[in-house]
Amino acid sequence: MSFDSLGLHEALTRAVADAGYENPTEVQSRAIPPAMEGRDLRVSSSTGSGKTASFVLPALQRILAARGDNTKRRSGMTGARVLVLAPTRELAQQVAKAAMDYGRHVQGLRVVTVVGGVPYGAQLKALRGPVDILIATPGRLIDHVQSGKALLEHVEMLVLDEADRMLDMGFIDDINFIAGCTPAARQTVMYSATFAGHVGRLADELLREPMSVDV
Ligand code: AMP
Repeated sequence: MSFDSLGLHEALTRAVADAGYENPTEVQSRAIPPAMEGRDLRVSSSTGSGKTASFVLPALQRILAARGDNTKRRSGMTGARVLVLAPTRELAQQVAKAAMDYGRHVQGLRVVTVVGGVPYGAQLKALRGPVDILIATPGRLIDHVQSGKALLEHVEMLVLDEADRMLDMGFIDDINFIAGCTPAARQTVMYSATFAGHVGRLADELLREPMSVDV
């Protein structure tokens, strides 16, 4: 399978070509088409499989589609369309870098990262403007939601990256709270090395008729 056959916007296939990728990895070829259809996914895959692009590319596709649709055009502080939750600052920053790389030909793309262990000032400033993709660690995002600085009511796609690690770190209540602040009609995609035990239960709560992808 080639990237061209996935139906991605030309701005995205161009970025993938810039990155030097010849073909999608297995998780990409299996997860990108259903993700682009708006389906919920539970994906078992590990770091190094190319999983980041498998959710970032459909997220960018969604943003590009909304740009072309005048009824969905928005201005002002309306909150992110895509929310990615990640367990650590480092992972969140890696996802943000991937979003900027794969979104390099998406004009005016706004990616905001909200993580713990860094000052609030720059994050507050970034949240005051329009946001396309918000990438966050759960604890710091809750601070911003509770102070009314981060709006989640326009989230169309929620991504949980490394969900097993987030639960190991004790983020279960935070994840449930955050998911509860997003629209019930959202798309949810969950990535985890395993879906045994409490991760599987969380998936059952958050996902609707998910497609499973195991690589
Ligand atoms: P990840 O599993 O998302 O952390 O990605 C692991 C590495 O694979 C990253 O350095 C990516 O740049 C790279 N990568 C992602 N997709 C592809 C692809 N289709 N072909 C070659 N390398 C890729």
